[in-house]
Amino acid sequence: MYGKFQKHLQDTLDEIREAGLYKNERNIASAQSAEITLQDGSKALNFCANNYLGLADNPRLIEAARKAMEIRGYGMSSVRFICGTQDLHKELEKAISDYFHTEDAILYASCFDANGGVFEPLLTAEDAIISDSLNHASIIDGVRLCKAQRYRYANADMADLEAKLQEAQAQRFRIIVTDGVFSMDGNVAPMDKICDLAEKYDALVMVDESHSAGVVGPTGHGVAEQFGCYGRIDIFTGTLGKAFGGAVGGFTTGRKEIIDLLRQRSRPYLFSNSIPPMIAAAALETFKILGESNELHDRLVENVNYFRDKMLSAGFDIKPTQSAICAVMLYDAPLSQRFAAAMAEEGIFVTGFYYPVVPQGQARIRVQMSAAHRREHLDKAIAAFIKVGKKLGVL
Ligand SMILES: *Cc1c(COP(=O)(O)O)cnc(C)c1O
Repeated sequence: MYGKFQKHLQDTLDEIREAGLYKNERNIASAQSAEITLQDGSKALNFCANNYLGLADNPRLIEAARKAMEIRGYGMSSVRFICGTQDLHKELEKAISDYFHTEDAILYASCFDANGGVFEPLLTAEDAIISDSLNHASIIDGVRLCKAQRYRYANADMADLEAKLQEAQAQRFRIIVTDGVFSMDGNVAPMDKICDLAEKYDALVMVDESHSAGVVGPTGHGVAEQFGCYGRIDIFTGTLGKAFGGAVGGFTTGRKEIIDLLRQRSRPYLFSNSIPPMIAAAALETFKILGESNELHDRLVENVNYFRDKMLSAGFDIKPTQSAICAVMLYDAPLSQRFAAAMAEEGIFVTGFYYPVVPQGQARIRVQMSAAHRREHLDKAIAAFIKVGKKLGVL
């Protein structure tokens, strides 16, 4: 049997390669940071990690994880509700709900799981989910697992959202779902307008803060802070794998009864292992660090502004960003790949994206900023952009 199936797989893999979509992985032989060492010993500056606050190699997180492992062991060998809950998990859930000004929080192994497990326990075929067209894959999968009626509105398009809300008025309950920051343009969902429409058309609001928490808002607390929407957003999901330390883990936080029901019925919570104590402890330390000062967020914002201004004055076409994601527009797909490769040769890691990841004719280089970048890192990256830009006729 395998022979025929193997041939089928081989053909599919060949198609992926021929389309230029085959993903190769970089082998990093150092901690994740602004500057990384590769397996062959060469060094590179990293501008494609989600390490927004530079916490991925933070000594306090490492020490917190080490200590917790010594005292609380390596893993829980259980789901939360059987015998997998420690004081650390409860403390972390409290720290998350404090951070987002919500009533309760529930941990998952990832935000992919949080989104996968949020809709099905709460909504039925009588209800409606109204989802932004650029929402993350895990939201799309979560919606698929739920029987609610599905509506999709164009990215951050409030007129289209309003039209879909009108169409969905016959349903019992409606929920609007959006990413906080969209990962390709770095644009922020207009939460104030979304909340206004939700009120007008009697809908709940859910936002995935994976790319926005720690980044967006005057002190980096996310979209509710940015748009003054505390109390108007019913459900937040997020990850511990980006700004909040970069390890692993996700969460849903929001209204008490919603979280309570998820604890009873959410399948990725009920049927998947507890996050390890060391992760919970290090994540707790993350929220402690963020509570002590706003230094990391300030540095991130400073870096974003510096990089954007220098790139604009060099003549690059950059999407207006309100986050740590900078899209340097090239429009041409093969050019985006040559550009990213030439940047790698200069020791700068950035990612070239093109259709179908972004719309046709919208190819770009995505640059992800971090509080870990120092001024000389930024200057080196900008110099490389200018050099490659001139070489490839972009400037
Ligand atoms: C990264 C990301 C996720 C997945 O988070 P994990 O914790 O890595 O599973 C979910 N939603 C959005 C919007 C993301 O950007």
